[in-house]
Amino acid sequence: MSTKPRYAVFGNPIAHSKSPRLHSLFAAQTGQSLSYEALLAPLDGFAATVAAFRAAGGRGLNVTVPFKLEAFDLADRHTPRAAAAGAVNTLAFGPNGILGDNTDGAGILRDITVNLRCPVAGKRVLLLGAGGAARGTVLPLLEARPASLVIANRTAARAADLADEFTSAGAIRPEGCGFIQLAGRRFDIVINATSASLSDAAPDLPAGLYAPDSLAYDMMYGKGDTAFMVAARRQGATLVADGLGMLVEQAAESFLLWRGVRPDTAPVLAELRAAL
Ligand code: NDP
Repeated sequence: MSTKPRYAVFGNPIAHSKSPRLHSLFAAQTGQSLSYEALLAPLDGFAATVAAFRAAGGRGLNVTVPFKLEAFDLADRHTPRAAAAGAVNTLAFGPNGILGDNTDGAGILRDITVNLRCPVAGKRVLLLGAGGAARGTVLPLLEARPASLVIANRTAARAADLADEFTSAGAIRPEGCGFIQLAGRRFDIVINATSASLSDAAPDLPAGLYAPDSLAYDMMYGKGDTAFMVAARRQGATLVADGLGMLVEQAAESFLLWRGVRPDTAPVLAELRAAL
């Protein structure tokens, strides 16, 4: 049996996960010796599968759909960003128990501010969606000190509830509303954290949301533009991006937590992009 430190991603389904490729590229680049596999956890057996992996010497896990809430419950301690998100995508096993982290929000912030060179500070930001991905993004967004943050969701009440949870988390109070209430407003950064792109649809938004020099960012990624990206270009967004960079950056953040080394994400992102 391999004596390399062992990591994995648990999900259901999991066969198409890019995480093993990502982490093997990170390991090669940073000279770390580790193993990383994608493992299918049964829908009714997440905790038992984690326990078995840990007992077999596992050092850490990534967790994806649909286990992020169960992973939160399983952790003995949480990082502040995981506590704010109420969901965990990274587990680290140590002598003091299980640490739960959430690197999704840090991943998207780094992709926007570093890779896309688009500062968030002072910008009017619109976050679309109120599910798990949106929830994990609110605190890192507020910490980046935007001028304003509006959370808009198809089900308006969910956006209002999410905004209410973060009223004292940053210098500004986020505002929650439905899509219709966005009419007449302008934004510098619009982030699509809805799952509409999964069914090749774009959220039904009022026209005229994009300010000059604005960024439209879809958390979803694929070979070509998503429906949201196509609609954003048509509506005048200057810079349009998908979520592949977020995927790479959240993985790098997990790698940093486990191994204490931050990989250089640029060549890894380029390699993944070429392979889409
Ligand atoms: P959830 O199921 O938790 O939330 C889905 C959200 O999308 C809800 O707010 C829902 O609104 C909204 N929604 C669904 N369909 C539509 C539609 N047709 N029009 C408008 N709104 C819609 O999903 P997640 O938050 O986990 O994931 C959201 C997206 O983010 C996915 O596409 C996922 O692939 C992506 N993602 C990307 C990551 C990356 O690394 N790049 C990481 C994590 C997620 P309502 O409340 O009204 O139902």
